[in-house]
Amino acid sequence: MTHEITLIPGDGIGPEVTEAVVRVLHVAGVRIDWDTQHAGVTSLERSGESLPRELLDSIARTHLALKGPVTTPIGQGFTSVNVGLRKALTLFANLRPVRSLPGVVTPFPGTDLLIVRENTEDLYAGLEHVVVPGVVESLKIITKEASTRIAHFAFDYAVRHRRARVTAIHKANIMKLGDGLFLDSVRSVARAHPAIVYDERIVDAVCMQLVMNPGRFDVLLLPNLYGDIVSDLCAGLVGGLGVVPGANLGEHTAVFEAVHGSAPDIAGQGVANPTALLMSALMMLDHLEESAAAATIRDALERVLSRGTDRTPDLGGTATTSDFTDAICREVEAAPAA
Ligand code: NAD
Repeated sequence: MTHEITLIPGDGIGPEVTEAVVRVLHVAGVRIDWDTQHAGVTSLERSGESLPRELLDSIARTHLALKGPVTTPIGQGFTSVNVGLRKALTLFANLRPVRSLPGVVTPFPGTDLLIVRENTEDLYAGLEHVVVPGVVESLKIITKEASTRIAHFAFDYAVRHRRARVTAIHKANIMKLGDGLFLDSVRSVARAHPAIVYDERIVDAVCMQLVMNPGRFDVLLLPNLYGDIVSDLCAGLVGGLGVVPGANLGEHTAVFEAVHGSAPDIAGQGVANPTALLMSALMMLDHLEESAAAATIRDALERVLSRGTDRTPDLGGTATTSDFTDAICREVEAAPAA
């Protein structure tokens, strides 16, 4: 079967890592009809829009996208394409598995965390205004509806994937109303799942506990902003942003993308690690029930990482993106047919 999938290369290292991933999927024999669409600076140059209608129409048709990172200008310029896309498509759940990989040496071997981040509201509502010169108000929106929806997602996922514990992360000691509503909503869902251990942590304390002993946590359930920050912290536990994948999920639509951004400091140098986007694509293949191809690619990736000879600089090696991709493709080609 041929799958029609929207491909958003993005900018910065986006085109480098998406090209690598498209190549691996092709070599693995997954039949995909890619509909390439542009967003952010690349589409602004072409069409004058950062989130063009054609892109949204493409995903409305395919219900599925693989997305490279898109730069968001800091303190000025267009609003975040990433936030806009998640809101426009109601991709309410951001799922980010954070796992140790074979051959990637870190102080925390065996780490296996799952971040579930609310993806549509909180301070990312983008509601800001100047009250008087020198005073800005940024509105943090928390609703019972979105908090309950993400809590259901986290607990249902935990049940389906045999995860033992869900930890809600908050700052309700200070934001008693907003984070308080998030917690109340999560607690009511937790009560319906007595088989899953449920606990709560204040966001600053959990950061310390995660970097000292991540093994005490399992599924982390967070509102949008804390989810964004804690994701990067957790990436640091397993080898960095080059190795952590993600999925933005809605009722009928899924956009798979790595946790990392456009990495302007290394863009164009051919040294970006495509592992995070490749692992996001593996989540996409699982979603498409292409599990045999996903398993072949996962094995190939793990063999290359374990061997250690073709690692990109973020993992301490000297390989380029294409050296690393070539090595994975060779392993895929050498794998016995499924
Ligand atoms: P970043 O994630 O782009 O980079 C942080 C650090 O990690 C950099 O040193 C970078 O070189 C390194 N890194 C990231 N991905 C890597 C990879 N695949 N291989 C090797 N090293 C990698 O974060 P930033 O620099 O804070 O953000 C840059 C831009 O990306 C900003 O405009 C930001 O808004 C945007 N961003 C986009 C997304 C997205 O599209 N989903 C996510 C996060 C940030």
